Amino acid sequence: MFKSLRRRALRKQPFPEPWLEVLERRLVWYGRLTPDLQLRLQGRIQIFVHEKTFIGCGGLEVTDVMRVLVAAQACRLELHHEPSHFPQCETIFLYPNAFVSTVTHLLPGGVIEQVPTVRIGESWHRGSVVLSWNAVEASTWAEWTGQNVVLHEFAHQLDSSGGAVDGVPVLRNLAAYARWERVVDRALTHLRLRLGQGERPIDPYAAQNPAEFFAVATELYFETPQALRAFDPELHQLLADYYGVFPMYRAEAA
Ligand SMILES: [Zn+2]
Repeated sequence: MFKSLRRRALRKQPFPEPWLEVLERRLVWYGRLTPDLQLRLQGRIQIFVHEKTFIGCGGLEVTDVMRVLVAAQACRLELHHEPSHFPQCETIFLYPNAFVSTVTHLLPGGVIEQVPTVRIGESWHRGSVVLSWNAVEASTWAEWTGQNVVLHEFAHQLDSSGGAVDGVPVLRNLAAYARWERVVDRALTHLRLRLGQGERPIDPYAAQNPAEFFAVATELYFETPQALRAFDPELHQLLADYYGVFPMYRAEAA
């Protein structure tokens, strides 16, 4: 109750002028939103920035520009439906560039191997998202590259809000879960088959597992929807129904 009152108050606060400038100058898609949606996004950004703790790592000093650009892109995922406000993400760690994370592998015989891996983003099931500011910035300048680290990591957050990180976010009803499973299973199998034949219809990273498939498909859905539709029209429609919006196509935007 207290939280909903506080959120209502935050939504009504005047949106800071410098933040608005950031949205207008740095996010091409912001200018394509209707005035109502722009206001809705502004309200959600106020809540996000207020509720999440941003921590600079590797000597990075977090600025409002960084907060607003992460918040706006994360909130874009929920702009057309009832927001969860990403309850499992309390902290966002920002590194200046790609960072090294230790990945644990379980080898045969129960041997545990820890491998340092370079990453630009990471989403933890409970508590935090880690991002490279460099990669966040790149995602704001270059639309239609099909890559967006913020959309990717916050898609993982939507995924984990349903419990397991299994590529299935919270859906409306049992029929929706059944449809999700059917479409994703088929599309993922098809992707692996095509990769095996030497084709590269979409980022091969999607073939890792259903969770990465959902995160990569989300990036494509918002950044290069035509490419996703060309790869798999049914998957494209599944995401359109889930996100509640058809992002503007490049040809239409020209
Ligand atoms: Zn991922």
